[in-house]
Amino acid sequence: MNFELTEEQRAIRDLARDFAQKEIAPIAAQIDETGEFPLKTIRQMGELGLMGIEISEEYGGAGLDCVSYVLAVEQISQVCASHGTIMSVNNSLYCYGIKKFGTDEQKHKFLEPIASGKKIGAFSLTEPQSGSDAGNMKVRAVRDGDAYIINGRKSWVTSGPVADFIVLFATTNPELKHRGTACFLVDTHQPGFAAGKKEPKLGIRASATCEITYDNYRAPASTMLGKDGDGFKIAMSVLDAGRIGIAAQALGIAQAAYEASVAYSKEREAFGSKIGEFQAIQWMIADMATRIAASRLLIYNAAVKKDRGEKFSTEASMAKLFASETAMWVTTKAIQVHGGAGYSKELPVERYFRDAKITEIYEGTSEIQRLVIAPRVRGDFDAESDIDLFVIIKNEDAARQRALTQLGVDVDLKYNVLLGDFVVPRARFERMAQIREPLYQTLVSEGIELWTRRPKTLSAFVSKKRRTISSGRARTLSKAAIASRSTARTMRSLRSRLPRS
Ligand SMILES: Cc1cc2nc3c(=O)[nH]c(=O)nc-3n(C[C@H](O)[C@H](O)[C@H](O)COP(=O)(O)OP(=O)(O)OC[C@H]3O[C@@H](n4cnc5c(N)ncnc54)[C@H](O)[C@@H]3O)c2cc1C
Repeated sequence: MNFELTEEQRAIRDLARDFAQKEIAPIAAQIDETGEFPLKTIRQMGELGLMGIEISEEYGGAGLDCVSYVLAVEQISQVCASHGTIMSVNNSLYCYGIKKFGTDEQKHKFLEPIASGKKIGAFSLTEPQSGSDAGNMKVRAVRDGDAYIINGRKSWVTSGPVADFIVLFATTNPELKHRGTACFLVDTHQPGFAAGKKEPKLGIRASATCEITYDNYRAPASTMLGKDGDGFKIAMSVLDAGRIGIAAQALGIAQAAYEASVAYSKEREAFGSKIGEFQAIQWMIADMATRIAASRLLIYNAAVKKDRGEKFSTEASMAKLFASETAMWVTTKAIQVHGGAGYSKELPVERYFRDAKITEIYEGTSEIQRLVIAPRVRGDFDAESDIDLFVIIKNEDAARQRALTQLGVDVDLKYNVLLGDFVVPRARFERMAQIREPLYQTLVSEGIELWTRRPKTLSAFVSKKRRTISSGRARTLSKAAIASRSTARTMRSLRSRLPRS
């Protein structure tokens, strides 16, 4: 993979670095102390195009790529992680979702003012009882004519106290859990919206975070992003992209702590030598540099994949997991290198240490990143194609059409499915009672065959009763038979083994 930066990418990196050094560095320690939201510098960043980097110019953004975005986030976060948080929420969590799922009208109204930095955006998924378990949300949206009435309480909304618009997730059908959620574009200046008290935080203290209460807030149906039921899918897709930004923020914090440590080790003396001449200190410096370099490569790898339009969830999770744990490790060692001075508020290393911790928590904790990564690297999903279950359609297009229509209603499925030559990405067959049975009925009645490499997948897809009825139709394909094949070859082979109708 070629990581040589283009002229444009170098230009945005340098612009972000110059701005951070000139405008943010002088206030970073002070706003950390007071917790004051840095409205002036955030507005300036908007004018420089840093608040909607990946959004096209038509919608107020800079029209650049994800690599440019991570370069800029790193530079800003190296100087002040609070600015990095505000920038990252605005760029990824707010803008990216509207860019990907919004209508043209929604983009003009809700994206343009935020991507251009004239207004501030936020993202609100978490609730008091649901963070990692985001599907368990209670904030309720009930249809009322051409609008939805929203009630309930959200927590931990970054930029919540200052945001003009918020990407909000609410349940429209609690029985369906995450499949019954919707996403709304909320105008915070409308009645029924109330921002609660600001959270007193360990780090990123100048990024304002608060609870928000909705009391009969009326959201016009036209402000729904995607369709009713799409909310969770939108949230997960947005978080995939957001994680690359948080990884870049972690990288910036780690880089700052590393540079401070190298400089200090060249100045501080003990036992008649510079401390940097002791091997113990050199080893810490070497390990810091190595982990930072590895983080950077993981981040660029995820960003490049996103820019190429390839799948990047696993890479984004790996980058966030590694870069955030690196930031925590490097900042801890940085304090060690500085000794007592590192523990003092007179130097910025203790701020880097406090700021680093959040990168292991928000946009999915390190444990949640491991939950994302593990099934993919274990091969629970087909490593090459993410295909888990092969559904072979014997009858011609009418059957395929009916099966697809059936699936179209329920794309939020657990197993990745190949239907004929049609791939349902990251499909989930979780709502089994409601989804699996009717879908299965359709498949069986149309003479469609199911093949899987794992019996477990099959039993998740087909209930015991159905499996008995379907014996001879649903079959398990041995792992060895398809382990070394590409999806296309596997499909050809499966088709050739089907009885002719
Ligand atoms: C400063 C800050 C800013 C934030 N900004 C936003 C924002 O702008 N918008 C927003 O929607 N949210 C935001 N959040 C919320 C954040 O995303 C959640 O705090 C985070 O996802 C973790 O959820 P939780 O706090 O409920 O912890 P919990 O989910 O209760 O987790 C507690 C612990 O249990 C672990 N755990 C949970 N489930 C599992 C599992 N299945 N397997 C293994 N371990 C598990 C977790 O990893 C963690 O260690 C913010 C949080 C903070 C602190």
